[in-house]
Amino acid sequence: AYRCRSAFKLLEIDDKHRILLPGLHVIDCGAAPGAWAQVAVQRVNAAGSDPSAPTGFVLGVDLQHLFPLEGATFLPYSDVTDLNTQKKIQEVLPKGKADVILSDMAPNATGVREIDHLKLIQLCLSLLDLAPHVLEPGGTLLCKFWQGRDSSLLQKRLMEHFKEVKLLKPPASRKESAETFYLAKFYKTGSAMQQR
Ligand code: SAM
Repeated sequence: AYRCRSAFKLLEIDDKHRILLPGLHVIDCGAAPGAWAQVAVQRVNAAGSDPSAPTGFVLGVDLQHLFPLEGATFLPYSDVTDLNTQKKIQEVLPKGKADVILSDMAPNATGVREIDHLKLIQLCLSLLDLAPHVLEPGGTLLCKFWQGRDSSLLQKRLMEHFKEVKLLKPPASRKESAETFYLAKFYKTGSAMQQR
């Protein structure tokens, strides 16, 4: 059983877009309670359940506590936007970098839609500061955001750093919610961020 129904959103996205292939190394940002990590462990074969397929790696990071999960490595009580966390992520990743960054992060909701939207956009933008240090060239970023005024800013920034950016609305995500995902593929080397 999955730790949270959010698993089904990632399953739907991955069934359609095939981002979690056996052998890939994944960072799961905002991993608690661990449902996406469960999906990622299965799909990249991080527990080595399929001996005939390459073994992947899953690193989950969250501000909150994370209960152990076979096949996953967790960094609990860690803020993804913190430079120390970035360093820890680099240390823990077997190759120092990952092929995929997943983010289902969500700020503590204030209930004021516009403020929550802006806070989550900031969290998503912080992933673009993390990426040059931990994401392989050609890598993939999947991030959840809530739609609002600055959605197009996030899209623009993603397009500067990735060759392909798609807007996704998985059926498991309730229609009335503003919850949406950007799937950004083919991370550019020497992207604008590093050149600055
Ligand atoms: N994907 C998870 C799953 O399937 O179990 C659910 C994630 S939950 C919707 C959002 C998580 O983002 C929360 O656990 C929260 O603590 C985490 N979060 C929010 N801001 C964060 C930050 N700056 N660094 C790390 N985690 C953060």
